[in-house]
Amino acid sequence: MPGAEAFLKSDIADMALILKGIRSRYMYAYGPVPSRRLGNSIGVSPIPAKVCSYSCVYCQLGRTRQLQAKRQYFFPKEDIFQDIKKVVESSPADVITFAGDGEPTLCSDLGWLIRTAKQEFGLPVAVITNGSLLFHEDVQKDLQAADIILPTLDAGDRETFHRINRPHGSITYAMMINGLSDFRKGFSGQIWLEVMLVKNLNDSNRQLFSIRDAVHAIEPDKIFIMTPIRPPAEDWVECPEPERVRVAEEMLSEAITVLDREEGDFGVSEFADAAEAILEISARHPLRLEQARAIERKFGEAGTIEQLLQDQKITINRYRQSDYIRPEKAKNIPKSASDLSTNISVDQIKCCAYRVTLDSSDQKKRYRVILADGYYNSLARGSLSKEELLETCFRYFLNNALLERLESKFSLRDFGEQFPQFETDIRNAIAADKR
Ligand code: SF4
Repeated sequence: MPGAEAFLKSDIADMALILKGIRSRYMYAYGPVPSRRLGNSIGVSPIPAKVCSYSCVYCQLGRTRQLQAKRQYFFPKEDIFQDIKKVVESSPADVITFAGDGEPTLCSDLGWLIRTAKQEFGLPVAVITNGSLLFHEDVQKDLQAADIILPTLDAGDRETFHRINRPHGSITYAMMINGLSDFRKGFSGQIWLEVMLVKNLNDSNRQLFSIRDAVHAIEPDKIFIMTPIRPPAEDWVECPEPERVRVAEEMLSEAITVLDREEGDFGVSEFADAAEAILEISARHPLRLEQARAIERKFGEAGTIEQLLQDQKITINRYRQSDYIRPEKAKNIPKSASDLSTNISVDQIKCCAYRVTLDSSDQKKRYRVILADGYYNSLARGSLSKEELLETCFRYFLNNALLERLESKFSLRDFGEQFPQFETDIRNAIAADKR
């Protein structure tokens, strides 16, 4: 049996193809999606879900799971680039947008990705960032190659900054503002500043005056005043009264208000069917019910949404007079390390995961894994020991009733014998699977 390193060298790129029942899919790039500001945009997420330097109260992706301010190499940059290439080749688009399900400037490869994408595809490149890391010289350097930077500025003072953006402890308001204005001085592209207004958090006259002063220091080319039109991380987040938005427009005299929701179709050419398209898109981007219905129509597969609801793969949440589809997430993935000693190899478990990589940042043998259950991608955070890797993969697949895939690689009953703590779970899962 080849060792883990042999596997990692030879097979990482084709991991998805190894998996029985899972075909190759685009993991980092998606779309094009209709963007309110950018037109038809190919989205690129070069970082794991919800790794961010902020945990904004209004975040449409929920609370931040990994609050961090240190940049790092998350995924092989060539893989990200190949995904972008596939999506670019599949549908026409106006722009490539690095956004991420978190903060994209945390990705140490961002500069290379922007430069390479521009060079290869000839499309403009935009980066949607919270702007918190622009005080780092290397982040500024990376963003120089982009055409449009869309940073966030929701506060004109320290207190409001902490209440609304909830930044990583090492990021101060002064660092964020200085980074943005410093970047402006050396950047020849467009800066489109986004100000998210939240009722009673940053919409008072005093706060709007402070935001205006901060805006002057940054000198953006455009300002977008946004309001939380999608389900927020915190239930109590509310849209400001129209009157407050009007006042904000007046104060930020050059502001361009964007209150309308995005219209238009999502690119679905890379998906096998309506179910896959709805699950994948809604995992990455808020999807309104009527947009999901349009996807059903494109595939001629009416009733897909009802089936997904019945299978408990999605939920529908109402927010501001609209229904939004969200994928159901995997439950009960263990967070703690286990003290397993095992004969099951990484080679065996690799066949059940989407991708396993050796974490080169660590001298000891540790792994990173991306798990996929066929409709919802998830990342086990941080680097894992072999035992944690095995347990995480196993738990994940067990919890998602993907026993068939596990069974095709090794006997679950043998697995149960090796891991007595899983015996009951395995028995229950097999029984449930047969019902
Ligand atoms: S809104 Fe953006 S910056 Fe704020 S927590 Fe979400 S991903 Fe991070």
